[in-house]
Amino acid sequence: MSEKYNLKGGCTCGKVKYSISEKPLFTQACHCVDCKISTGSSYVIHTTILENSLSVDGKVSSTILPTGSGKGYRAYFCVECGVYLYCKYYIGPGRLNVRTKTLEDPSKFLPQVHIFTKDKDPWLNLSDKEKCFETAYDRDKTWPEESVKRYNKHLETIK
Ligand SMILES: [Zn+2]
Ligand SMILES: [Zn+2]
Repeated sequence: MSEKYNLKGGCTCGKVKYSISEKPLFTQACHCVDCKISTGSSYVIHTTILENSLSVDGKVSSTILPTGSGKGYRAYFCVECGVYLYCKYYIGPGRLNVRTKTLEDPSKFLPQVHIFTKDKDPWLNLSDKEKCFETAYDRDKTWPEESVKRYNKHLETIK
């Protein structure tokens, strides 16, 4: 894969910009209660990337927040405007989740699955039923094969 990637994104005030140098692995929407609170909305959309493909320009602060797995995650915010840009789940070494809508062109990254639809708002209708999971999903069976391979290869390098 020699395709060049240079995806850009940032916060609302413009003090934090980031870029992603490698093709993202997967994009998912999560409807769980924690994501509802952290977005103040019905669901979050996360684009999962390899941790070492992100570079950040500008000041971010971070804090650890709870997850269903009990392992927690670290969320990163612009220190000026407080926009939540990306996070790291401790359950997933070597990867980060960027908040998809902070990308300059998020239309390229549509949710490939919806998870925790057991908590989905009842007025929100999803049409693509086979892409919905009541709770979590099996990564190896759900991500594109290419992404699974690339992530597993990356895991080998960070052991
Ligand atoms: Zn900002
Ligand atoms: Zn969630």
